Amino acid sequence: MADEKKEGICYLVGAGPGDPGLMTLRGKECIELADVVVYDYLSNPDFLQWARPDAELIYAGKKSKNHAIPQGGINQLLVDRAKEGKIVTRLKGGDPLVFGRGGEEAGELVEAGIKFEFIPGISSTIAGPAYAGIPVTHRDHCSQLTIFTGHEDPTKAESSIDYKQIANAPGTKVMLMGVERLPIIMKSLIEAGAAADTPIALVRWATTGQQRTITGTLETIADIAIEQHFKAPAVAVIGGVVNCRETLNWFEDRPLRGKRVVVTRTRKQSSKLSRMLRELGADVLEMPTIRIVPSDEKEHREFAQMVINAHTYEWLIFTSPNAVEYFFDTFYKIREDAREIGGCRIAAVGPGTKAKLAEYRMGVDLLPEIHVAEELAAKFESDVSVENTTMLWVRAKDARDVLSTRLIEAGAILDEGIAYQTVPETDDPTGAVKRFESEGADIITFTSASTVECFLDLGLEMPEGIQIASIGPITSKAILEEELELAIEAKTHDIPGLVAAVLELAARE
Ligand code: SAH
Repeated sequence: MADEKKEGICYLVGAGPGDPGLMTLRGKECIELADVVVYDYLSNPDFLQWARPDAELIYAGKKSKNHAIPQGGINQLLVDRAKEGKIVTRLKGGDPLVFGRGGEEAGELVEAGIKFEFIPGISSTIAGPAYAGIPVTHRDHCSQLTIFTGHEDPTKAESSIDYKQIANAPGTKVMLMGVERLPIIMKSLIEAGAAADTPIALVRWATTGQQRTITGTLETIADIAIEQHFKAPAVAVIGGVVNCRETLNWFEDRPLRGKRVVVTRTRKQSSKLSRMLRELGADVLEMPTIRIVPSDEKEHREFAQMVINAHTYEWLIFTSPNAVEYFFDTFYKIREDAREIGGCRIAAVGPGTKAKLAEYRMGVDLLPEIHVAEELAAKFESDVSVENTTMLWVRAKDARDVLSTRLIEAGAILDEGIAYQTVPETDDPTGAVKRFESEGADIITFTSASTVECFLDLGLEMPEGIQIASIGPITSKAILEEELELAIEAKTHDIPGLVAAVLELAARE
């Protein structure tokens, strides 16, 4: 069996139009399975974080006419890698079979005797109009939908696009790839019989935080696009349905629209913050500067010993959700019965830690009103008789020692278990650092002092005009110590508080 050759396969996956929530579950699975991921400029690079750390990531294409690898080369690459027995996932913007060359690539795979699967995606032809508040079909307006490409030059004698037929087709028309040729295409449609006052909308970078829409008529839109410096990639939607946008425009009036906000927390922990920001319309750039890893071997052994003895403590103290996770991971590696945790009481520094404890069905006996270590210490001093009380503080290697100093001063018998440590994130599978450097951002969020310190370790310049938002006083102190300018500090020191601060910043302008 050992040298039996694995059979390769190629998944031709639609990556959707850009909003990460519009990737299919099957598509995500194919990325997780892949030995090789081939992606292009229209597929959201954030998806690459789902790839295995050892997967080969290949960038295949850029904007039209400027391909990193020519189409023939891509086909050959898919065939070669699959022939080596690899699982190849080819990501394509939108749906792979809607002007996506998925059919051609599949044909070559079949010819080479390689197994393949189509995984459909949500096409920008449908999603683009939807995110601009335009239903492509609507019973009051139309019962037919025509999708065409504006890629070809209408003056070309051998053009395969019949503008007469398109102009005379009833219902909605959706055009891809036509922005560069807008004047000639609009002229051709009108000459072919389309009414010059037919409404049209162009939706750029649809479904992302950079989405922008302009509207006009077949007659006016080309000039409007030039005036407004409107560029590709965009979907054009033509027909009476465009007017629905006046009442149905749900996506574009959100408060963080058009703002790029950087999230620096760990990849694993960024999802809640990113999702909340995205729901408010932000263009979120996930650029983790830190990573959480287990403590070093000796410290971990000591920690594990304390976890075994958890039932001997009167109090367990958690000052971060990570601490909770590392504690219970270790606990259930050693113990099988939840009751073996004993009768200890539990203290948490803030609501995030409390929520993480709730995931393990653990309640909290002590929670300060302000979510910092000083306040937790004060709450112990005021509410609990600390003297001679046994306590285990589950902590990070680099945690500040204010809590331990004060508890020990108050007479506690305190053990400190070093559960994990924070290290700089050196991987950049999504190319976020490069995008930060070349495109900049409007707001950058920091959620701990270590995100600030590790950000500076990356040696990046702060883009001009960027504003810094901090989750709380300790993070702010780190920012100011590094001589950075702090624009705002969250009023409550948790993720919703930080999101509220970002909103306030955006509203200031
Ligand atoms: N297979 C893709 C289309 C690929 S052709 C799909 O189903 O969506 C490339 C064209 O798609 C671009 O020129 C642009 O017209 C359109 N497009 C793709 N993603 C887009 C997006 N997020 N916003 C606007 N247009 C997009």
